[in-house]
Amino acid sequence: MTTKTDVLIIGGSSIGLNCAYYLLKAGRSVTIVDQKQVALGSASGNAGHIVPSHIIPLAAPGMVGTSLKWMLKPSTSPFSMKLSLDPKYLSWLLQFAFSCSDANVRRSIPALKSLGLKSAKNFVQMIEEEGFDCNYSPTGLLFLYQTQEAFAGGKHEAQVLHENGLPADVLDQGQVRQREPLVLPDVIGGVHFTGDASLNPAIFLRQLAERVRQMGAEIIENEPVTSIESSAGKVTRVITSRKEFEPALVVLAAGSWSPEIAAGLKLRIPIQPARGYSLTAKAPAGMPRQALILGERRVAVTPLGDLMRIAGRLELSPLDTSVRQKMITGIEQAYREYLRLDEKLEIQETWAGLRPTTPDGLPLIGWSPRQSNLLFASGHAMLGLSLGPGTGEVIADLASGSAAKFDLTPFGLERFNRVHPKTLAG
Ligand SMILES: Cc1cc2nc3c(=O)[nH]c(=O)nc-3n(C[C@H](O)[C@H](O)[C@H](O)COP(=O)(O)OP(=O)(O)OC[C@H]3O[C@@H](n4cnc5c(N)ncnc54)[C@H](O)[C@@H]3O)c2cc1C
Repeated sequence: MTTKTDVLIIGGSSIGLNCAYYLLKAGRSVTIVDQKQVALGSASGNAGHIVPSHIIPLAAPGMVGTSLKWMLKPSTSPFSMKLSLDPKYLSWLLQFAFSCSDANVRRSIPALKSLGLKSAKNFVQMIEEEGFDCNYSPTGLLFLYQTQEAFAGGKHEAQVLHENGLPADVLDQGQVRQREPLVLPDVIGGVHFTGDASLNPAIFLRQLAERVRQMGAEIIENEPVTSIESSAGKVTRVITSRKEFEPALVVLAAGSWSPEIAAGLKLRIPIQPARGYSLTAKAPAGMPRQALILGERRVAVTPLGDLMRIAGRLELSPLDTSVRQKMITGIEQAYREYLRLDEKLEIQETWAGLRPTTPDGLPLIGWSPRQSNLLFASGHAMLGLSLGPGTGEVIADLASGSAAKFDLTPFGLERFNRVHPKTLAG
C-alpha cells in the first residue's frame, strides 16, 4: 500500500526531530520514520555540549600529522581508524587530507559561526517557549591543558575566536583552579569559551519528540527505510520494511546511515561513521562545576544534575555502535589524570554512538542537486546536537522557499557533486 504524505523525515534523532519542529511551526504536515526508536540515535548519550565556539572545522592544517602521532600511542590516543581497502573509504581519507588546509578553514569559519550562533539562540528560545527541563546550563565550556604545546593550540583558537567576534578567555593555572577547584596540579592553564552551554541530550530529545508529536507529527518507529526511488528529477517513492510512501518532500536526516539509504540516487554523499563512547555515572561527591574538555585527551565532561557524563574517542569505524569496555576505562582514566576523584564511579550507563563525518568537516545541508523534492540534513560529525535547532530552521526555510538568513553555499551537496543540467533525469 502506498501512503501519500507531505514531508517525510528519515531519521528521528537530533537533526530529524529539530527539522520536524521547525517544519511543523512553518505549517507543514510531518511524518518521521526511524529504524529504531526516535530520540536515541547517536545523540542521546553524547556529551551534551552546545558549542557556537566551534568554528574551526576538524579538517584543519596539522590534523593529518596530529592523527598519525595519536595513532602511535594507542593506549591514550583520542583517535583511531579502521584498516580497509574500500574505495569509498580511501577516497574519503584522501579528501580529508586535502581538506586540511587554511583555505578550508577560511571557507568554513563564517558558515559554522552563522549556523552555530543561530542554533545556540534557538536552543534558548525553544527551551524557554516549550518549558523543557533538560539540565540546560549556559556556563560556557572550559578546556584544560597539561602541556605547553596543547595550551598554545588553545590560545591560538581563542585568538581566532576573538578575530571573529566570539568570546574566549585564556586562563592561567590559578584562574583555572578558581573556576574549577577539582583540577590537579598537572593542569597548567585553560581556555574558557564563555558563549557555550550544555544540557542532557537524552532528556532534551525525549521532550522534543514529545512536543513534535503534540504538534501533530506522525512518528513511525522500528521501521527502517530500505530505499529511495527517483525518476525525472524527483523522489517518487520511499520504501520501508513495511510500506511505501509518496511524499511531497523528503528530508534525509539519518546521520551515518544516510549514504546507504540514498545509495540508489546517483549522488556522492561522503559521510564516514566515527564512533565515540560515553559513560554516565552518579554525580561524585566532588562534581565539576561546569562542562569541560580535557585538552590533550579530547575527553568531554558534563555535569548533568545528579549525574555526570564523560565522553570521548573518535574511531573511523564501520556502522557499529557496540561498546568496547577498554575505551570506557580509558575515558574514566583520562578524567582521573586531570581532576580529583577520590571514589569509585557508580556507572549507570555505558554507550557508543556514531558521528556522521564529512571529509571537509562541514555538514551537508541543502537541496539534492538531482532531486527537486529532496533535502539533506546529515553529516554533522561532532556537532549534531549543537547545530540541531539551527539546521532545523534552515531546512524549514528552504522547504518554504524563504530567503536564506546566511550563506548556505559551504554546506551544499554541490561541493561533492558536479551535476550537469543534462543529467538531471533521475
Ligand atoms: C561520544 C560522542 C560525543 C558527542 N558529543 C557531542 C556534543 O557534545 N555536542 C554535539 O553537538 N555533538 C556531539 N556528538 C555528535 C552528535 O551526537 C552527532 O553529530 C549527532 O548524533 C548526529 O545527529 P543525526 O540526527 O544527524 O544522526 P544520528 O544521531 O546518528 O541519528 C540518525 C537516526 O537515523 C535513524 N536511521 C538510521 N538508518 C535508518 C533507516 N534505514 N531508516 C530510518 N531511520 C534510520 C537512526 O535510528 C537514528 O535515529 C557526539 C557524538 C559522540 C559519539
